[in-house]
Amino acid sequence: MPESLVEFQNVHKKYGHIHALKGVSVSFNKGEFVSIFGPNGAGKSTFLKLLCTMTAPSNGKILYEGVPLNKLKDGFRSKFGVISPQPFLYSELTAMENLRFYARMYNVQDIDDRIKTLMDKVELYKRRNDKVRGYSRGMLQRLSITRALLHDPDIVVLDEPYTGLDTHASDILTRILTELFDEQKTILMVTHNMKQGYDAASRLAIINGGKLVLDVQKKDISIAAFEHQYTEAVS
Ligand code: ADP
Repeated sequence: MPESLVEFQNVHKKYGHIHALKGVSVSFNKGEFVSIFGPNGAGKSTFLKLLCTMTAPSNGKILYEGVPLNKLKDGFRSKFGVISPQPFLYSELTAMENLRFYARMYNVQDIDDRIKTLMDKVELYKRRNDKVRGYSRGMLQRLSITRALLHDPDIVVLDEPYTGLDTHASDILTRILTELFDEQKTILMVTHNMKQGYDAASRLAIINGGKLVLDVQKKDISIAAFEHQYTEAVS
């Protein structure tokens, strides 16, 4: 059996008296696309933050390729591309200036070529010299996707990426996720959109009350059966 890419071993996360994650044990392999569902406050964002080392567990262990989090070398975070509700962009800079800033931070080679390739994919290249301040919500989200993928991360983590997107921006995001999946990137996406999440994924998970309450390969469950399981799990 190949070693898991990421493994959670009985992971707990407490914020003061709030027990946000209550003993999650799960592992992911390279190339999996996992859609994660659950009601508000279930612990989904906390799970993603732990995964991309934006916060540390209160108890339990997280291993990357068998190595515990606290033993990992600097620069490890560049394995991740994070697309979250916060765009992490500077509104007074142009799109190009924002992307060059992040590209330098991550030591991206051939910066301008890489930026052009990605901005073409999200159909923003023509607007590259506009200040981000003037971008619509959909454009901001497309730009934040570009920012997150600049350094060609192995693991792409998305927290509700479809929220607030119009149909056009949603279609672009779906196309990009399909390409990333074809490239064998590991993708973990929290979403409320059952159809988009189901269609895109190879594996489906439900988090509720700080626990992983369902974890199933998509090939083993129809969307109708999964929707039924979801209703049962969260009621
Ligand atoms: P979800 O993403 O499923 O909506 P979260 O992981 O954001 O859930 O939150 C899980 C629980 O932890 C909630 O009760 C939330 O209020 C709490 N929580 C999340 N982040 C913090 C934080 N930084 N400080 C205090 N409580 C938090």
